[in-house]
Amino acid sequence: MKRIRVVVLTVWLCLALVSCGSAETDALLKIHFLDVGQGDCILLRTPDGDILIDAGTEESQEMLCLSLDRLGVEELLLAVFTHTDEDHIGGADGVLSMIPTREVWVNGSASDNESAQMLFRTVEKNDIELRAVCAGEIRRIGDVVLSVFFPFDSDAASGNENSIVLKVHCKNFDMVLTGDAGSEQEQMLIEQYGTAQLDCDIYKVGHHGSNTSSSAAFLSAMTPQYAVISCGAGNSYGHPMGEVLARLEESGAVVLRTDLDGEIVFETNGSELRYRDVSLVLQ
Ligand SMILES: [Zn+2]
Repeated sequence: MKRIRVVVLTVWLCLALVSCGSAETDALLKIHFLDVGQGDCILLRTPDGDILIDAGTEESQEMLCLSLDRLGVEELLLAVFTHTDEDHIGGADGVLSMIPTREVWVNGSASDNESAQMLFRTVEKNDIELRAVCAGEIRRIGDVVLSVFFPFDSDAASGNENSIVLKVHCKNFDMVLTGDAGSEQEQMLIEQYGTAQLDCDIYKVGHHGSNTSSSAAFLSAMTPQYAVISCGAGNSYGHPMGEVLARLEESGAVVLRTDLDGEIVFETNGSELRYRDVSLVLQ
């Protein structure tokens, strides 16, 4: 949805501060882009429970478990693994062993690498419901709706190009997360969903800011207010790439990066989106 104005230190923010703690605000959704180095890990917190999207690298696993403990995550209603590359499921074993998890979504059932085999073993060992999902899957958790936009086929092989693409919706708030999907998939998304459904307030930048993602056409379809890049400081891939940063800047999005900003937290009540001391009115 489009923003019409920026309001700094709104009444909502003041009320939130007075209430001494996010749990007491009227937030319907808190989004934590956790700093897991060169990987992805996003925690969605709702009054009805928590959802994890990806689990970073094996190297960041211990830090991730500590972060989830610090945040008081006691159960996961759902863990979504966008694809089975190590930088997205490396910490899954530790998380799923530590935190009771009701359900796991993957983008295909193939255990095509060591990390994936470990993930599937952990899921089985902990008796977690496992589902290979595809476009059309919808999960409502209170006022938050998760819609799977991609892949179109649940038999898809797990890889960047078949990353689960999610749309997270909460009243007037929308966020698009594309895992490591590339520009070819972005074009398919544009053709399938159009600007009306891709329009969003936050875009989790595809593939850590690689030049293979975040095409100008895709950014123009989404018109995000914020673009969040999850990547490691000084990573060997050169993420985020200069061309992508230029395209994001051109799109008008405010760019946030876990390598520079650390953990990035947003909060919304469905009509305003708050990041630090800035609140946007959503429409
Ligand atoms: Zn990745």
